[in-house]
Amino acid sequence: MRIPVRLALAAAALAATMAPAPLSAELPASNPFAAQSPLFDQAPQFDKIRDSDYLPAFEEGMKQQRAEIDAIADNPAPPTFENTILAMERSGELLTRVSKVFFNLDQSNTNETIQKIKAEVAPKLAAHNDAINLNPKLYARVKALYDRRDTLGLDAEGKYLIERDRVGFIRSGAELSDADKAVLTKLDEEESTLTTRFVDKVLAATNTGAVVVDDRKKLAGLSEGDVAAAAEAAKERNLEGKWVLALQNTTQQPVLGSLTDRALRQRVFDASVKRGDGGADDTREIVARLSELRAQKAKLLGFPTYAAYVLDDEMARTPQNALKLMTDIVPAATGKANGEAARIQKQIDSEKGGFTLTAADWELYSEKVRKAEYDLDQAELKPYLELDRVLQDGVFFAANQLYGITFKPRPDLPVYQPDVRVWEVFDADGKSLALYYGDYFQRSNKSGGAWCDSFVDQSRLLGTKPVVVNNTNFTKPAPGAPALISFENATTLFHEFGHALHGMFQNVNYPTLAATPRDFVEFPSQFNEHWALEPAVFAHYAKHHATGAPMPDALVAKIKKAKTFNQGYMTTEYVAAALLDLAWHTLPPDAPKPEVDAFEKAALARFQIALPDVPPRYHSTYFFHIFGGGYAAGYYGYMWAEVIDDDAWSWFKENGGLTRKNGQRFRDMILSRGHSEDLAQMYRNFRGRDPIVQPLLEERGLMARPK
Ligand SMILES: [Zn+2]
Repeated sequence: MRIPVRLALAAAALAATMAPAPLSAELPASNPFAAQSPLFDQAPQFDKIRDSDYLPAFEEGMKQQRAEIDAIADNPAPPTFENTILAMERSGELLTRVSKVFFNLDQSNTNETIQKIKAEVAPKLAAHNDAINLNPKLYARVKALYDRRDTLGLDAEGKYLIERDRVGFIRSGAELSDADKAVLTKLDEEESTLTTRFVDKVLAATNTGAVVVDDRKKLAGLSEGDVAAAAEAAKERNLEGKWVLALQNTTQQPVLGSLTDRALRQRVFDASVKRGDGGADDTREIVARLSELRAQKAKLLGFPTYAAYVLDDEMARTPQNALKLMTDIVPAATGKANGEAARIQKQIDSEKGGFTLTAADWELYSEKVRKAEYDLDQAELKPYLELDRVLQDGVFFAANQLYGITFKPRPDLPVYQPDVRVWEVFDADGKSLALYYGDYFQRSNKSGGAWCDSFVDQSRLLGTKPVVVNNTNFTKPAPGAPALISFENATTLFHEFGHALHGMFQNVNYPTLAATPRDFVEFPSQFNEHWALEPAVFAHYAKHHATGAPMPDALVAKIKKAKTFNQGYMTTEYVAAALLDLAWHTLPPDAPKPEVDAFEKAALARFQIALPDVPPRYHSTYFFHIFGGGYAAGYYGYMWAEVIDDDAWSWFKENGGLTRKNGQRFRDMILSRGHSEDLAQMYRNFRGRDPIVQPLLEERGLMARPK
């Protein structure tokens, strides 16, 4: 429910039903959020928006939507699709408008004022959404419509919208008795307290777990810069003259790729895996209680387990489906990891190491194997990867070949930062389709990583077209110098543009049916990455920035081979963590409170993924995603989406690859459809069957490619 209002109508409705609102509630017309942007496709008026415009727009936006929702809930007329479901879709136009711009800039171009506003507005927004989701009169109307949805004369999308609306309310607890609502609130509060405590304890354990080194010689293998950083970290802890090796959140520690002192490697590794497992910052009690209370919460809401509750709203739909896909990967992944271990042992033996490989040795010796067999010199590659060429002759070119779309710069539209670029995107028939913003360079006031977002979402009901933005953090070149990027950066461009295509091709009626769940959302983006190495696309963009010469074949072959390096280890550690997550969250509500270490050990053994040299990417006691963040029962989702994107890629390969016909089919059956139908069925319609894991195993080099 993130949408517009006819402002005039809303104001009229308000005036008719309430005492005159105080004047202060009105947003001055000078506020650029007060009305729809008059710019092309409602592009944000970045030349007019000032930081002082946000807060009043948020306040007024929430007030307006509250009034709209109350008017729907209190409407004396019997509920209809129009006066309830569509009215909800149309509500909150101003709030959506300001939120879209504000939260984008909070990520990409923030400042102290924006951060202060966010801190003030975030709890208010949470309360605002709760008030809508737990409004009993509103839910009663939705439920009444849901019960007779087959008699309302709706098309499939309209019917699906009612179903999704009902699910949203149910998941918030709308169907519970008042007593059970109180229990749910208590469980939610306890969960929130415990996850916060978990985060605090793991941070503390990670801090105190940092390894102190007395002897400079023991740091052999580290670069001068890393040694200096370790000395600095020691100084900060009043340990002058010593060195401190800080821990990262994963089980494996990057520093283990360099340290040549075996005893020190073991100390670092042990410090990592012991976080939260005993000591002052023990998290085991929290882990056990969280899994227990989540099972109770699921039961209250009518689900057998917490994973069943979470996955009911995902593409996977059931824990059994997610478990099957993960366990299908286990034999190939562990088999490959065992092969990698044997290769590493050979390396150790060839150096007369005289010891048997353990997890603490893996990073150092696999790095040696990488250098010997997979080495990829970025300095050699970069001259062939110039940002603008990769973008226009690679990313845009592939999209043109597949979907027929073309791009025209729109320097006339305002931007929030001078490096940001804007293109108008045209469909194959020449009609304007969308606006695409690109913000590619790193800045001190921009979040790290890369992402896709939107300023305006497509909706036929609201008559809006997509206004989409990609962000990356590439190093900005000196004035006049070419922007040369790594192959990983180039892949990132394809990835984020895959999200952008998903947004730009979206062709749904209702805003609520735009967002797709997290186990699906990375499918279009990861799928689009495949074109980066497609020969016809690659040859079109990978040219020397000065001479225009194509990248030598030997370099291309190295890029392809490097993709499969260490994939046995990486796949196994990931799947082990995903299976642990599912194990914790498929505990039935009446199960006895588990003992954490024993439970984890038994689960890994049960899934046949207990390799001593390849521990889970996170052990339970420091698994932030599931006990400290929002990924409980959802960690599988990253690889679920990868299974699907590789499976879809295999369809393209079977059907002639890069053609307009194939692209159109993918656009019509997947990219244009948002979440307007069941996603597993949507995929089945496209592929002719459910996804299978074999294509992923091939892409990751975990099994031989069929001839
Ligand atoms: Zn992504």
